[in-house]
Amino acid sequence: MTDKKIALVTGGTRGIGAAISKYLQKHDFQVIANYYSNDEAADKFKNENGVEIAKFDVASFQQVQEEIGKLIETHGAIHVLVNNAGITKDGFLHKMNENDWDAVIDTNLKSAFNMTRAVVNKMREQEFGRIINISSINAQKGQMGQTNYCAAKAGLIGFTKALALEGARKNITANVICPGYIETDMTGAIQAEILSEIVKTIPAGRLGKPEEIGALVAYLASEEAAFTTGAVFSVNGGQYLG
Ligand code: NAP
Repeated sequence: MTDKKIALVTGGTRGIGAAISKYLQKHDFQVIANYYSNDEAADKFKNENGVEIAKFDVASFQQVQEEIGKLIETHGAIHVLVNNAGITKDGFLHKMNENDWDAVIDTNLKSAFNMTRAVVNKMREQEFGRIINISSINAQKGQMGQTNYCAAKAGLIGFTKALALEGARKNITANVICPGYIETDMTGAIQAEILSEIVKTIPAGRLGKPEEIGALVAYLASEEAAFTTGAVFSVNGGQYLG
């Protein structure tokens, strides 16, 4: 065991999650980075950064309770939880099948319940907790072809606000970040012509960098952020000011 605070980042081995893991490590947290299927990326991340990795499906309530139980047993506590793991399965609603709806809701929204439920009692007991949920600009403004994703990410905002109220007296904060378009594999999967049209709508004239989310997470995880709770942070280069 260590004197450092323990931070668990879901989807913490690639993209935005990897940047979050690195920032938390830089700010003296002991980081555990969860992932689900890409062993190669996870092993590379572990070897390059000396970060512990934990493979489990955040969408599965049972798997999460078992794996978090083991992690708490090993480390004594989880002080910071970043619910970052997410997927897209885009399609217009009139063509969307039930599997694509369920997969996105379970991975992007139910996961926050699964994960938070597994750590919150310990946080209440130790009277310290920082929960940071990664939503999306598309939860705020809507996006064609993403009814499933927008519903899940908007759900995270309501979840965070209610959780903030429940945790306030126990020094548990809950905040939500809505990134705009950030340079990762997720945006890399968007067709180049569509992406360049998107960039034209961003006043900053560029995509965001994962580090620009990582730095905010490190602040929200700190002792100094104790009075910041239930807040929604837009990090989008001015693309949406709602
Ligand atoms: P990414 O590059 O596609 O990485 C996603 C991460 O989530 C991977 O580490 C992946 O694990 C993990 N993951 C996916 N399903 C999982 C599951 N069932 N259980 C555990 N881990 C799982 O995504 P990203 O672009 O960094 O996005 C990170 C978060 O930011 C997502 O919630 C996304 O919706 C949100 N976001 C992204 C953008 C953007 O522009 N990129 C904008 C707004 C919001 P494997 O490595 O094992 O696949």
